[in-house]
Amino acid sequence: MSASLLGDILLVDLTQGSISMQPFTKELAAQYIGGRGYNAAVLWENVKKGADPLGPENWLIFGVGPLTGTSAPSSGRTSVTAKGPATGRYLKTSVGGAWGGYFRFAGYSFIAITGKSERPVYLWIDNDKVSLRDASHLWGQDVRQTEHLIQQELGDVNVKTATIGPAGENLVMFAAIMCSNYNAAARGGIGAVMGSKKLKAIAVRGTRPVQVAEPGLFAELVAQAWELYHAQSGALNTHLYGTSGGVPAINELHVFPTRNFQESYFEHANKVSGQHLADAGYLKRRVGCYACPMSCHRYAEVNDGPFAGSFTGGPEYESFGALGAGTGTSDTEAVIRANELCNIYGLDTISTGSVIQWLFECEQRELDFDREGLDLRWGNGRAVIELVERIAYRKGKLGDLLAMGVKRASEKLSQGSEDWAIQAKGLEQSRVETRAAYSYALAFAVNPRGPDHLMTETLAEFGLSPEMIAVIEKVTGDQRNAVPYITDKRPEIVRWHEDVYAVTDALGLCAFASTAQYYMTPELMADLFSAAVGIQVDCDSTMLLGKKIVTMERAFNTREGFTRKDDLLPKRLRTETLQNAPGKVAINSDEVMDPMLDRYYAMHGWDIASGRPTRSVLESYGLKAWADELEKHTALP
Ligand code: SF4
Repeated sequence: MSASLLGDILLVDLTQGSISMQPFTKELAAQYIGGRGYNAAVLWENVKKGADPLGPENWLIFGVGPLTGTSAPSSGRTSVTAKGPATGRYLKTSVGGAWGGYFRFAGYSFIAITGKSERPVYLWIDNDKVSLRDASHLWGQDVRQTEHLIQQELGDVNVKTATIGPAGENLVMFAAIMCSNYNAAARGGIGAVMGSKKLKAIAVRGTRPVQVAEPGLFAELVAQAWELYHAQSGALNTHLYGTSGGVPAINELHVFPTRNFQESYFEHANKVSGQHLADAGYLKRRVGCYACPMSCHRYAEVNDGPFAGSFTGGPEYESFGALGAGTGTSDTEAVIRANELCNIYGLDTISTGSVIQWLFECEQRELDFDREGLDLRWGNGRAVIELVERIAYRKGKLGDLLAMGVKRASEKLSQGSEDWAIQAKGLEQSRVETRAAYSYALAFAVNPRGPDHLMTETLAEFGLSPEMIAVIEKVTGDQRNAVPYITDKRPEIVRWHEDVYAVTDALGLCAFASTAQYYMTPELMADLFSAAVGIQVDCDSTMLLGKKIVTMERAFNTREGFTRKDDLLPKRLRTETLQNAPGKVAINSDEVMDPMLDRYYAMHGWDIASGRPTRSVLESYGLKAWADELEKHTALP
């Protein structure tokens, strides 16, 4: 028997211990597509202004898209959404691996979880049978062990899990939810939301193929996608060396954040690169998410020396950047070990590296605090490893301090350390040197969850491939805009990528396919959407749904009281000019950012002065009820 066409919605109330189900209809797909889009609607509807992100009133929503579990390439992504504990705002994360596909095979597209269990539980989804099971014996176990114990208990090694580790249980502000051990819904403390609900894991067994509305047409479109994949220029390099294969080139451009964004060139960059993983024998396998030909993930292992036996997914570009160059650590094996610990304790590697490098800079500047026996000088990989453990378990004063995230930690330690806390909105910035890449700078500033590349990836501005140059020409009318250090046409570049990224997430596709390698075109995504769901939509109307999703997310933050003044980048990047950058300006000051923000808000039809969505824009998306609700809390332009 096949699963239902669009999959069902599971509603789980952990306080009541109840589970119910309702269909995800074609009408809902036409309004929100799926995944990230419908998740945002559920969050808006159920999580009221001022709700505590770690209280039972927060909702944790897992959503796959209409393409997840189909034969469409790179279609294994799941969006996980909640009000975020790190920022107190809208939080969407995305995770790959196999979990999403199997969830769809079980017959579902969404789980919306509210309440809080009295004792630890895990959710067991076995096709039609869904139950909550005791997880007292799993509480305290790491991610790897939890999956192993659940598979043993259920007698099936093919059961897929989404689980938290000790970091999520201990409400670390950057705890992740790990799918199949190595794939992380990482950012913003989404794992702490799951931990606050005493939900240890969601285990899935799905055995039914996913239906599409027009199988013949869908198969033709999938074949087209494969052709485009094979024809484009960058995928082979990504497959061979992974995301960290980009390290040498980025470093040569002097835009590789080093020692907490004090420098932009790491003298040992080759030691934290995908090329070195392969050449030095650490790389054991190239791994892909469900149905992904690109297989950008790595599986690395240390054979001998003090970290012999360490094995991990990755390290990816961001992990090598945050745990390696960011902390000044050139010891590849120490970084592999730190990455492994982040994976098994369930920590976001970006934020983990960020808080550690902030602490190392506190040491550099000789601040007054208890080192608790640690040598915190740049490059000490052993201290990095020790701190990862202390953070996950909130061990000692230092572990507890860093577990708060860099914003709260710097406010607590003070002594001027807020100046080098590389965060905005409460989220640690990912490893992009936005002072030398202005589409990224704008995208990071307006990102509803804080400064990173995982809501709008604008790699095309670097013009690194023929596909990227073609995108810039299409969006701006001139391929000479394919340089990252000018401000002209950046709002146009961000706006195009925002829509594409939102549609990508909502369909269940990977943004690498559509906004990094560009083989999955907007036209093809719209056609696949139509053929899967059985509704007729063209490219423009599909992209308009992407734009609508971005406004929905903005509306959530507007209701919480956030405005244009919150669309900032970290202080260091606004006030310190980057040295040795290729461009002339190399700073994210107000003078640089303000004109771009003006144009960006205008392109959305939002109010330029406040950054709030206007009533007319909301109504144009069929969101009149949203405008009415917003007006109860704030004046709408
Ligand atoms: S490109 Fe990488 S992250 Fe994206 S689906 Fe493929 S393997 Fe997963």
